[in-house]
Amino acid sequence: MTTELTSPQLAAREAELLASIPHQLLIGGRWTDADGQAAFDVRDPATGAVIATIADASPADGVHALDAAVAAQHAWAATAPRTRGEILRRTWELLQERTEEAALLMTLEMGKPLAEARGEVAYGGEFLRWFAEEAVRITGRFGTNPEGTGRMLVAQRPVGPCYFITPWNFPLAMATRKIAPALAAGCTAVIKPAELTPLTTLFLAGLLREAGLPDGVLNVVTTTQAGPVSDAILADPRLRKLSFTGSTPVGVKLLKSAADNVLRTSMELGGNAPFLVFEDADLDAAVDGAIAAKFRNIGQACTAANRFLVHESVADEFAQRLTARVTALRVGRGTESGVTIGPLIDGRAVAKVGALVDDAVAGGAELLTGGHVIDRPGTFFEPTVLTGVSVDSAIFRDEIFGPVVTIVPFSDEADAVTKANSTQYGLVSYAYTQDLRRGQRLIESLDTGMMGLNVGVVSNAAAPFGGVKHSGIGREGGAEGIHEYLETKYVLTPDP
Ligand code: NAD
Repeated sequence: MTTELTSPQLAAREAELLASIPHQLLIGGRWTDADGQAAFDVRDPATGAVIATIADASPADGVHALDAAVAAQHAWAATAPRTRGEILRRTWELLQERTEEAALLMTLEMGKPLAEARGEVAYGGEFLRWFAEEAVRITGRFGTNPEGTGRMLVAQRPVGPCYFITPWNFPLAMATRKIAPALAAGCTAVIKPAELTPLTTLFLAGLLREAGLPDGVLNVVTTTQAGPVSDAILADPRLRKLSFTGSTPVGVKLLKSAADNVLRTSMELGGNAPFLVFEDADLDAAVDGAIAAKFRNIGQACTAANRFLVHESVADEFAQRLTARVTALRVGRGTESGVTIGPLIDGRAVAKVGALVDDAVAGGAELLTGGHVIDRPGTFFEPTVLTGVSVDSAIFRDEIFGPVVTIVPFSDEADAVTKANSTQYGLVSYAYTQDLRRGQRLIESLDTGMMGLNVGVVSNAAAPFGGVKHSGIGREGGAEGIHEYLETKYVLTPDP
């Protein structure tokens, strides 16, 4: 077990793992240098140290990767669904065997505590297993037309070559949530992971190859030139689909580029989740849910509770109980045992969170705990609780993406719903109430694609994940997930 190893042993284990990760682009089944051998550094946000130097793809490299995906498309679509599923299933098995490596790698490049990284291996891995099982359930229909003069056949065909852009906050799950349904459906792909956390995708690509994925079916381009590389791929008429997970402003820009090429798109964008606590809520359960919904992934989740809306009669008690729990969170490098809060991803993130907190305090909010940058190597911010936050403040409006709770009181259900829906985002909402009928009303009145009713974490590979409004288009996971990668084809034949 990791906790029994000494520091030099742990350091050696980290070095050995990092040395085993491919450092090149994966194009057409070959690990390849970038144009001109360009490379960039990947850093550990807990220390600031460089942990790897990897290929930095040019736009031409991106197009070569698409060439490989296009070349592999026909044969992959013609591969038996059972075979496609078995490769995904085998990859899931390999990931189970290598959970510790995958988890440590995520902690090293992204900063999340090891226990959470293991949780992401389980969650992210489930998409491989789920879509391995969905690959064989792609169906169609056959029938007589209403006039009785012909036969109508409706088939589901793979969309074709896809381009995936993923964020840094869940390096494994955001990749498997796209790769697994696409491959199950018979699509080939190019994936561009976030430049801050490219190593997990390279590791995953290695597992898929080990599981028998044919050359060119999945291609990986790591790059610091996200815009130019993506522009080159998106403009190519051979591309058929873009699936993006990231911020809403980048998603909007990509949707415009995708429109020029009339691409199918799936957009998993930002969130600003409301977390409602009613006067009849089980406060212990609400505090447990709040800790999970806010502090998982150091607050850097699209599903993170961003705005705690609490009935005025229980707001002080909720704030007090939550603050007691927040002050007990342990900050440190995610590899240290007992740590529950790792670093933020980089200095920019720390500056953004700090500015939002300062602005809220200047606007009259009260700090119950935290509120400051932590003076130590790496990019850490104190777990923070703010009350009396104004609904007009930037921290209420914008996605915080950090370990900061903002508490706003409400007077009644109508006020709570108005406040909850007063945002352009609509990814997920959380509500705590013991009143069943109120719960049913909230399901209908909260404008979000997902909802946690008396639970603080909703993600599950078997469920359709996605948002409404500026939080996105489409669903990933569940029975719905594979349809993002299937095109409907209708055929009419004469009456035999
Ligand atoms: P980001 O938008 O900055 O980057 C996401 C990806 O887009 C990265 O790979 C980045 O390299 C790439 N990118 C950036 N500019 C680009 C451009 N001009 N053209 C093409 N690609 C470009 O987001 P981030 O900071 O990596 O991730 C955090 C955001 O992602 C948050 O807003 C979060 O809510 C969102 N997110 C959403 C979901 C979801 O499922 N809805 C899941 C995770 C994260």
